[in-house]
Amino acid sequence: MRRARPSGGDADKGKTDQLTAAIYVRISDDKSGEAAGVERQETLCRSLCEQEGWAVGQVYVDNSVSATSGVRRPAFEQMLEDRPQAIVCWHQDRLVRKTSDLNRIIELGVPVHSVKAGTVDLATPSGRAIATTLAAWATFETEHSAERKRAAFRESASKGRKGWSGRRPYGYANGRDENGRPILIEREAEHLRHAFGMVRDGASFADIARYLNDQGETTPLGHEWHARTVRQVMVNPRNGGMRTYRGEIVSDEAEWEPIIPRDEWMAIIERAVRPGGRQKGRGKAKALLSSLCVCGVCGGPFAKGTSTSQIRQPDGSLQPVKRDVYIATKCGHTRAPLEWLDEYVRKELVKRLTNPAGALYRAQAAQREDADALAAAHEAAEARVRLQELRESYARGEMSLATFTTTTSTVEATITSLDAQAATYYRPRTALDHAEGIGSVREAWQRMDDAERRSVLAEHIESISIKPRGRGRRPMSPEYVTINWKGWGNRA
Ligand SMILES: [Zn+2]
Repeated sequence: MRRARPSGGDADKGKTDQLTAAIYVRISDDKSGEAAGVERQETLCRSLCEQEGWAVGQVYVDNSVSATSGVRRPAFEQMLEDRPQAIVCWHQDRLVRKTSDLNRIIELGVPVHSVKAGTVDLATPSGRAIATTLAAWATFETEHSAERKRAAFRESASKGRKGWSGRRPYGYANGRDENGRPILIEREAEHLRHAFGMVRDGASFADIARYLNDQGETTPLGHEWHARTVRQVMVNPRNGGMRTYRGEIVSDEAEWEPIIPRDEWMAIIERAVRPGGRQKGRGKAKALLSSLCVCGVCGGPFAKGTSTSQIRQPDGSLQPVKRDVYIATKCGHTRAPLEWLDEYVRKELVKRLTNPAGALYRAQAAQREDADALAAAHEAAEARVRLQELRESYARGEMSLATFTTTTSTVEATITSLDAQAATYYRPRTALDHAEGIGSVREAWQRMDDAERRSVLAEHIESISIKPRGRGRRPMSPEYVTINWKGWGNRA
């Protein structure tokens, strides 16, 4: 391995073999004005190399790729692979923002010299200590900035500003009109008003789905409507001109034109989603767990049924008692009392959701979505602006074709990747996603209607296997039930 002087000033300067340094430059979203553009960073790095008597080797450019966003930095990776003799950058935070990346640089064992901060000699313990501290500090700053972004979103939401940008909601377009207001799509709004009228008159969300499909309407993504997607659209307070943030209404004076007046929306939706408050006589409600239950013997399906048993009364007489059960209808192998199983599964679900591992799992999922996805959406928007700036800069003759091609293709790859990350922001949520602790999970569960509970169950449970209780049918107990969880470790 070639070792180099950590910094200039020694008498033997120029006597050793001349080092060839790699220059690493990266633009990020620093708005301080201090962060130099790629070209300026490169110029400063070059003059630093000259001062040090180093030859300039390869110049590595990552454009608008945040070093902590988890996006792979192609030029950074290439540089590690090329194993340069020294690295010159504008500031250490351009090079590494994560400790893991710093460790990879340390492993190279080469001097790293930055224009802003001087040389950090990663070959010495004190140099590594300084660099590690700086990287830790950078990580803190990044997290802090995610927090700031969230605060900004909350603030913007409470002012009633629209919360959609990538994927538009049904009824509204992306962008704004000439007065700066979000754009209502009149045709879709008309269908929605009709749909609200239908729900008021007792129609189900499935009826609305049929209506919309018959009208040739599709979801904003071009899919056919289902009860679930209709529900998602209609129960959103957006339709009544209210802005929500993380499931809570934070402003009832949204900047967009409501589909129907707020009070009307509230009255219709409240009645529509209240358990048992909907359409009369539309077939018997499906039991909560029917579609999740499978026969422990053959894997057969379950349905809701009634079972009559003779129960001995205190006076010794036998009385027939009817109760609801889940029955393995096709095979008849087994059954489970409905109330018992609903209660058992609910308890297990609450237990699982409030178990520290579960809480961590959900917190990580929520964090990924809230911080990363929102940040990604913003970074993507910023990257698009930078792409435009690059084009303009190239048009003005301020950069070479080679630089322009490299940087634009990097930015374009970044945008694609950021858009994909941002898309997770639109995952439909339930009240449980934000509930913490046993009490609040239980409470959130109680506030839900069956459709919401079903979607939570489907999100967490793969299947519920029910084993037969044998002859004489022993009393129901957890030993006959196996819940197959989705996500983290089964049988938690
Ligand atoms: Zn069976």
